[in-house]
Amino acid sequence: MTLNQLLDEGTERLSKAGVEEAALDARYLLLEAFHTDLTHFLIERNRELKAESQESVREFYRMLELRSARIPLQQITGSREFMGLNFFVNEHVLIPRQDTETLAEQVLMDYKGKYPRVLDLCTGSGCIAISLAKLGGFRSVVASDISAEALKVAQHNGEAILGKDKITFLLSDLFNAFRTDERFDVIVSNPPYIPTEVIRKLQPEVRDHEPMLALDGKEDGLYFYRRLAEESSKYLNPGGTVYFEIGYDQKEAVSKLLAEAGFTKIRSWCDAAWFDRVVSGVYEK
Ligand code: GLN
Repeated sequence: MTLNQLLDEGTERLSKAGVEEAALDARYLLLEAFHTDLTHFLIERNRELKAESQESVREFYRMLELRSARIPLQQITGSREFMGLNFFVNEHVLIPRQDTETLAEQVLMDYKGKYPRVLDLCTGSGCIAISLAKLGGFRSVVASDISAEALKVAQHNGEAILGKDKITFLLSDLFNAFRTDERFDVIVSNPPYIPTEVIRKLQPEVRDHEPMLALDGKEDGLYFYRRLAEESSKYLNPGGTVYFEIGYDQKEAVSKLLAEAGFTKIRSWCDAAWFDRVVSGVYEK
């Protein structure tokens, strides 16, 4: 047997299980199981496998089984790249999406060379807070989440990417556990924003294996934006700014919520696929 034959077999199994990018996923899993990279794979793919590869072959079959059960690729390999950084992920956190880089990039652009005090609510894997601290050099970053399990993941990523105690992590349902005199220059959040009804129509990878707590924006998907719009201004320094990730069809509604809560200079940005993805507003006081 050769690596190429194994790859074909894996692709076919994943394809039969309804996995969308079967060939690509099979290749990622193969590289992971054999602890190798694409270059070595391309050189060695037609060589007969040696006896000592048995362990890797078994590992590849084990991973294929998980992926066939529609467990997300990144939960199997345990990692996902975001803003060029490598984040550990498990079933307790939303897998960082490329869409969310739109938010991180905008904050980095708006605060280049400045050192704002930043809060990331609903941090999940910590991908936004950690990439802002790392790439923006922001030294005062707080990240919070309602899930203790998610916070463990964020803390692990913080230590791996930034070193010990560079970010303050706080277990909190939005602002509930914050001191009332806490103030930030920037508040960012990618809250759960999928309407409950829509969740059952999502791919099984998301619907059955990513944390419901990170997806469900309740009845109309806007539950957390209402709370965020209402509460954020109390925790902002004068002229402070909020940046929220939004669903592709939520720009008008979220902009309106911010305006009603007294925010001005409301802006929005699209993601790489031209879907509305981020809304921001300034609180002048
Ligand atoms: N963008 C995610 C998805 O489509 C949802 C993220 C969220 O609810 N914050 O699955």
